[in-house]
Amino acid sequence: KVKDFQFMLRLKQPAGELPPELYRLLDDLSANHGQGDLRATTRQCFQMHGIMKGSLKHVISSIMDIGSSTVGACGDVNRNVMTTPAPFATADYQYAREWSKVFAQLFRPLTPAFSEIWFDGEKAATVETWSKEVEHHNVDEAMLYDSGRGIILPDAVEPIYGDRYLPRKFKIGVTVPGDNSLDVYTNDIGCVVITNPTTGELEGFNIMVGGGMGRTHNKENTFARAADHLGFVPKEDVMELLKSILASQRDHGNRDVRANARMKYLVHTLGIDNFRTLVESYFGKKIQPWRSIPEWKYNDWMGWWEQGDGKLFYGLHVDNGRVKDEGSFRLKSALRVLVDKYNLSMILSPTQSLIFRDIDPNDKDGVDAVLREHGIVSIEEVDPLARLSMSCPALPLCGLAQTEAERIMPSYLERIRAVLTKMNLDDEEILIRMTGCPNGCARPYMAELAFVGDGPKSYQVWLGGSPVLTRTAYPFMAKMKDDDLEATLEPILAMFIQQRQEFEAFGDFCHRAGADAIEAYCASYVPG
Ligand code: SF4
Repeated sequence: KVKDFQFMLRLKQPAGELPPELYRLLDDLSANHGQGDLRATTRQCFQMHGIMKGSLKHVISSIMDIGSSTVGACGDVNRNVMTTPAPFATADYQYAREWSKVFAQLFRPLTPAFSEIWFDGEKAATVETWSKEVEHHNVDEAMLYDSGRGIILPDAVEPIYGDRYLPRKFKIGVTVPGDNSLDVYTNDIGCVVITNPTTGELEGFNIMVGGGMGRTHNKENTFARAADHLGFVPKEDVMELLKSILASQRDHGNRDVRANARMKYLVHTLGIDNFRTLVESYFGKKIQPWRSIPEWKYNDWMGWWEQGDGKLFYGLHVDNGRVKDEGSFRLKSALRVLVDKYNLSMILSPTQSLIFRDIDPNDKDGVDAVLREHGIVSIEEVDPLARLSMSCPALPLCGLAQTEAERIMPSYLERIRAVLTKMNLDDEEILIRMTGCPNGCARPYMAELAFVGDGPKSYQVWLGGSPVLTRTAYPFMAKMKDDDLEATLEPILAMFIQQRQEFEAFGDFCHRAGADAIEAYCASYVPG
């Protein structure tokens, strides 16, 4: 018997942008060549599951033909560049969007192998689409690739990656001061747009380095890490600095032990000051001190907002990123109707949801009506726990999964809601994340409460991340069985009620109290 092989295919959509013609194509491809649904990822792109091997060439070349791409969505290269998804018309938000696309262009893999295999060697439309963004900023090819100081490898097909690419995947996020909707501290490089307070002109970027989520159970030398502040760079030097950071990782990252190959381990081993010195040896200049910025806030940008240019945007919550039709809940059909009727562009959010942008205020009621007709509730009706939560695909779609995540998360949230109700804590908004293995695709280690699969029907419980996503949580217990969820949470919540400070969030309380004190309290807890 000949085996059937099926694949998951992920797009690369810098800044999460999804024009209407691309959505129509993905909608059709997923129906005709995939398992029928689409999944919004935690890095602002769509992936499709269940693509049969025989359909791969057609699906990939269709995506490239329309000006999108799958190049660099996986592999040891720069992955999809994320940005705050809010499509505000203000200068700082526009800079964040535009420069994230410039950075995507800067680090795109150049090998012709991809188009030779999937596109019969022809140049794909996507290259031309991205180039427009680069021209817009007067960035010529020479500025992108022709620098010195050891970054360029002469005659290499890949002038930045060289002949061995990077030790491991590489992630970049771009945002504006105060807007941490994208978990900026989880990236290898985080960039924060700094504008002149008087003129609004772009001055440069605050740069952070060394974030990353993936770890391995029972291997203490693997860990999740929040990025450190590297410093400020003027806009005219930002390309050179980003290339210098990437070259530092390319040349000094751990290529012997794959589990320790991410740049976070290099930053951790050297310490941020020595890492800065290393980067400066490529950069050829001193990196300026980090500029002071306002405190971070987390916002998912769901519901109706004014863009600031007379148009509206609408954030549509998608449970765990799964765009599907199921019974009277017909999200996939609703999106197609909205795209066809209003020709709307979308932005995928960093928390697996969708934002429709550039909506004429006259169409607001019509958009609402289409959603209601397809069984989609308003954002006010979504449980805040579900709105804040994320989970990864896990079983049966991910070969690395040790247990369930996406499929079991809704029942976990219902059970947690029941515990909160019982304890009179219904007003608490707790940021909860779940993954089926320690790789951490849904960024569980930043959450206030997280479940990380560590065996069949079993999870490691993590506590103490920040509600504004600026620090990592700590492991509280291993091997929590599915059946023990309520018994595990109730004593922790009882201690929270008893010992929290005024307005203290659950994650902040767990961080302040620490694992030992919470464990001691739980050990002596007598259920009421
Ligand atoms: Fe990622 Fe692990 Fe979830 Fe698979 S099971 S999607 S590797 S976190």
